[in-house]
Amino acid sequence: NSSLHELDPDVAAAVDAELHRQQSTLEMIASENFAPAAVMEAQGSVLTNKYAEGYPGRRYYGGCEHVDVVEQIAIDRVKELFGAEAANVQPHSGAQANAAAMFALLSPGDTILGLNLAHGGHLTHGMKINFSGKLYNVVPYHVDAETGLVDMDEVERLAKEHRPKMVIAGWSAYPRRLDFAAFRRIADEVGAYLMVDMAHFAGLVAAGLHPSPVPHAHVVTTTTHKTLGGPRGGVILSTADLAKKINSAVFPGQQGGPLEHVIAAKAVSFKVAAGSAFKERQERTLEGARILAERLTQADVREAGVAVLSGGTDVHLVLVDLRDSELDGRQAEDRLHEVGITVNRNAIPNDPRPPMVTSGLRIGTPALATRGFTAEDFREVADVIAQTLKPSYDAEALKARVTALADKHPLYAHLSK
Ligand code: PLP
Repeated sequence: NSSLHELDPDVAAAVDAELHRQQSTLEMIASENFAPAAVMEAQGSVLTNKYAEGYPGRRYYGGCEHVDVVEQIAIDRVKELFGAEAANVQPHSGAQANAAAMFALLSPGDTILGLNLAHGGHLTHGMKINFSGKLYNVVPYHVDAETGLVDMDEVERLAKEHRPKMVIAGWSAYPRRLDFAAFRRIADEVGAYLMVDMAHFAGLVAAGLHPSPVPHAHVVTTTTHKTLGGPRGGVILSTADLAKKINSAVFPGQQGGPLEHVIAAKAVSFKVAAGSAFKERQERTLEGARILAERLTQADVREAGVAVLSGGTDVHLVLVDLRDSELDGRQAEDRLHEVGITVNRNAIPNDPRPPMVTSGLRIGTPALATRGFTAEDFREVADVIAQTLKPSYDAEALKARVTALADKHPLYAHLSK
């Protein structure tokens, strides 16, 4: 029963270094968050040892009486949180949740309509070398070049022309809200299923700060680790009539034994997400993103060739357009890294640069909101980012401002030695 440090100092050292990185820098990758200690405790529990193929009450292994309790709690809580008729909490990740939902409702060769990857969609919405692009006939829709908004006229036109079996609404990089009712109307017109992938904005939905796709979609998938702030994993919500198909697509269709330790951690995070402190945190998340968008549209930043896609944000992230900047996406990501802010470069619609370079940045506020950042803190972060993206920037001074913010909001203090 040696500790990690005793048994494996090499891995322990890397874990310690990662803890220090998270504590000493500002995490602004829009898909990341900090899981609460209780979530990590559940995930690090003895449940990792248990095989439990099947579902609560219907397992293929003995000794499942306690993991049955855990999984049923997770199912009941997530149904309640989102007002869904049915839930499957077993997908190991968001990608596997999407794969299982498609496997349940489609046959290979069927047509799907999804947001193009370069316009903000996810790999699993039809990227060429992803399973979704290989198994299904993909028709991509796009955002309008002028407004940066999803072009619903194009969605309708493509749906009528190609008659997809599934319309996918959802995104990984999009700063506005989707019109789920309009997507459902279009799906109904052509007899398609509507799948909404709310991985990014699920936390906002849980807090009641973003329209819910659940009343409109046949199936809603999500990750549990982005705005929702839980362990890494996936969930599928659906109407009651599709539950059986979806359950059998997850197991035995896609996966073997469920990760009951992760499911326990999901259950804990759903409890957290139902509380008032969670709502207050999501409000700060949204406010932080608005403050950032406002700062990055001011004249001094515009003069440096930096623009904000769609002119602002309604969600937890801002997409920065660097086409007129001296920096490409990679250089801007590196420069922010140099001052202690972690973001990711991101392709923007009609990006002239290749995907490894890009002309954009995706900057999100969920992790800092979890860390306790207030509007005043977000104003300071926004100014640091603005100054860093200008041609004349003082790396030392900016790094000191980042360090002061990190020190002001200690993270995982109980884990520091
Ligand atoms: N769906 C969307 C919209 C995402 O943004 C992501 C991840 O970034 C996923 C699915 C996949 O989640 P995972 O990385 O857990 O497979």
